[in-house]
Amino acid sequence: MKNMFTILLVSLFAQLSQGAENVSSFTAQMITQAELSNYERTSTFAEVVSVLDALQRNSQLIHRETLLITEDGKDVPILVLANPAISSPEQAKASGKPIIYIQANIHGGEVEGKEASLIVMRDILFGDKKHLLDTQILVFVPVYNADGNDNMTENSRPSQEMSPLLAGQRQAHGYDLNRDGMAVETPETRALYANIIQRWDPDLLVDLHTTNGTWHGYSLTYAPSYHTAGDTEPSDYTAQIMLPAIQSSVKEKFNLEFSWYGGFDYHDWPPTELRTYNHAPRYLTNNMGLRNRMAILSETFAHDRFYKRVHAANVFVEEILEYTSVHGGEIQRINREADARVAAKAASGSYQNGIQFEMVPLEETLNLLSYKYIPFTKEDGTTDFVRSSEIVEIQGVLNFNAFAATMSATVPKAYVFSSDFSHIADKLRQHGIQVDTLQASAIFTGEVFNVTDVEHQSFVQNNHNNSRLQGSFVSGNRNFSAGDYYVPMDNRLANLIFYLLEAQADDGLAYWNFFDHYLLQELASAESADYPVFKVLQ
Ligand SMILES: [Zn+2]
Repeated sequence: MKNMFTILLVSLFAQLSQGAENVSSFTAQMITQAELSNYERTSTFAEVVSVLDALQRNSQLIHRETLLITEDGKDVPILVLANPAISSPEQAKASGKPIIYIQANIHGGEVEGKEASLIVMRDILFGDKKHLLDTQILVFVPVYNADGNDNMTENSRPSQEMSPLLAGQRQAHGYDLNRDGMAVETPETRALYANIIQRWDPDLLVDLHTTNGTWHGYSLTYAPSYHTAGDTEPSDYTAQIMLPAIQSSVKEKFNLEFSWYGGFDYHDWPPTELRTYNHAPRYLTNNMGLRNRMAILSETFAHDRFYKRVHAANVFVEEILEYTSVHGGEIQRINREADARVAAKAASGSYQNGIQFEMVPLEETLNLLSYKYIPFTKEDGTTDFVRSSEIVEIQGVLNFNAFAATMSATVPKAYVFSSDFSHIADKLRQHGIQVDTLQASAIFTGEVFNVTDVEHQSFVQNNHNNSRLQGSFVSGNRNFSAGDYYVPMDNRLANLIFYLLEAQADDGLAYWNFFDHYLLQELASAESADYPVFKVLQ
């Protein structure tokens, strides 16, 4: 008995010292502006940096790098958390651990992920989440759109109830950073690809947002990297295995309802369909799928009070990291197998892959939680709906959260184009794609897209009237000279290369007007013109 009592005392003393150590490490400077202001304010960029400084002063486990210096001169930090600490991607690779990347605030007014990721880092370094560094390396960018964040006004998020008094702007200097995944026209996207995606090669990207409107009944909605032209396995694993497991652990531990992202038209009450957003890889989470990596889009519920939104984002990130801390090896294996499969398949080429897509329902229907809408008759005799405060469950809703190809093209062994198009070679290299130059002239056999018309979309998207090329493929041989560009497909980025360079891809470089100047000049004096990127098929 005495022995047992001594053991208990020693153990209690150990716990107390451990607790005391934690208390002394968690300093006042680590408290976020949201917490300090009773959730009436969100952090400025400088206030985020001040919390990060405090975390770093008190922990050896943070390594800090610069994502970019923004147009307004802000030094946007990347925080790499690891135990034992690391300071380079080489050390990360040598550790064998998966790298999980969390970014927040890409839309400057969607501030919840920014506050939550600071709290997550603090929980990991000084709270009860230290074990999350046992088996993985975590990379955080809490303020991705730093310039947008600090451009705060009272009305930047009009559809969000009980928001912080001031919040930043969605865009950064006129660009929506989450539509720039293919065109790469902003310093933020260039920096993301160079300093995170290529440098650290994370196995999972988590992108933290807040929705604009739909009154569904969830604290948070999510989406995987949508499968388009990419390998299916990383996307399927995220959608079918990882997200459902996280959804149930959140329900079990916190009694919060999380579900698929989407919206519905309440004028058709009760809704029969939930429809998600676009599949296109200009959205960063979808872009990851073309790179054989996993991604999760997170959207806190706009109509929850601010503290609840921060809590939902905090819980989601921590439960994702609980999942990856156990299943990181499996995630790495699935991604690496996809790398090998994509490279091997594209090396021989000549198979069909999708270039345009439509939204389709998943096989399994959804029991949708939503605020209930009640019909009433207006003065003119027509029916409208008013939203009640009751949350109801609507059975058997079609869940449009997948995509199927509506147009395909042949995957070539390589793409070749003239040295006149050095801006295209530069663009591909920004994506991390290998672009070679021909050492001698050569004749290639394959096909080229013969363009008869360049149609422009009537609306403006990220300062573009996007192009849709009309025409058809023609088989043949083409001569190319020394110094011309050759893009081999026998590598893991083949699906990304394909989507960028196919003439009719619904989110490729042609769609983003990169070939307009050349094609419109050619079509001014001819009925048709060859798209200047030749596809090598033999
Ligand atoms: Zn957003």
